[in-house]
Amino acid sequence: MNNELNRKVVYIVGSSRSGSTILNILLGNIDGVFAAGELNHYMLTAKNSVEYCSCGELVTNCKFWTNVLNIAEQQIEGDASVFEDQLRFFENWRSLLPKRNSGRRKELKRKYADYSDAYFNAIFQVSGKNILVDASKSPVRLFNLLNSSRHDYKIIHSVRDPRAVCVSLNRSLQKDVKKGIQKNLPGRPFFRTIKELYLISLLSVLARFRAPKGCYLRVRHEDLISDTKSTVDQLQTFLGIDSQGLATLLAEGGELHQSHNVAGNRLRMQSAIRVSSTGDPWYKDLSNTKALLLAIAVTPLQLFFRYPFKWY
Ligand SMILES: [Zn+2]
Repeated sequence: MNNELNRKVVYIVGSSRSGSTILNILLGNIDGVFAAGELNHYMLTAKNSVEYCSCGELVTNCKFWTNVLNIAEQQIEGDASVFEDQLRFFENWRSLLPKRNSGRRKELKRKYADYSDAYFNAIFQVSGKNILVDASKSPVRLFNLLNSSRHDYKIIHSVRDPRAVCVSLNRSLQKDVKKGIQKNLPGRPFFRTIKELYLISLLSVLARFRAPKGCYLRVRHEDLISDTKSTVDQLQTFLGIDSQGLATLLAEGGELHQSHNVAGNRLRMQSAIRVSSTGDPWYKDLSNTKALLLAIAVTPLQLFFRYPFKWY
């Protein structure tokens, strides 16, 4: 039975390409957990979304998300799409600057949290689950929710070798809406990714001190891939879930299922997923010179996240 008092929002924070999509999918395979994907994108474009849900339907045609939208709209005035440009500001780090907290800004921030809460409530209701995963990743959204939302949060900080993140974002991707790529994505220069990685990592770690004790967990993507069972045990302990369902599935080599993952990277559009198949040999096209410069630039982050020294 769904008990509202036990409801929790699990927020995955971290950088793009940090492994948050597979983490979200893995969490969604734990009993009692609904993994929604990147809810910030959904909330701000719910009525006009051109994205596909992982069930294969357009989000605007998917029964699950149509029900969520109908219920959320009963709790809020109008829909968030109308205020998309204004509300998206609360995912920009500038929204955390104190001088920006004018009366008008506070009102919009309240609205951002109210919309988020309305969608969270609707998803709890439609899914029938007590734990909801929001894989939006943005630490700024997390801070603004922690400051204004009425829900209880648990934070999972998804980290990956910073060099792998840089190489992954440096690759360009062609638009393929059905595969979950909404537009052509040009490769991002290393220096820009490095700068963002430092900022995102700093804000994500600071969120730990904003959340109640015991509500922050850091998961390294490489650990999730190489020792999925231990990571699942760690996640279940963190969430207070005692279930053997996912452990048994993994032990038997079964495929992870997806229900209605609304936004995220292209992995969510695959129907049969095994964690072991999601590893990425990111270093194979990297020259020694680039590898050396990259290693120097991200060494402080690697040390902070306790990555063992490894050339590749
Ligand atoms: Zn769906």
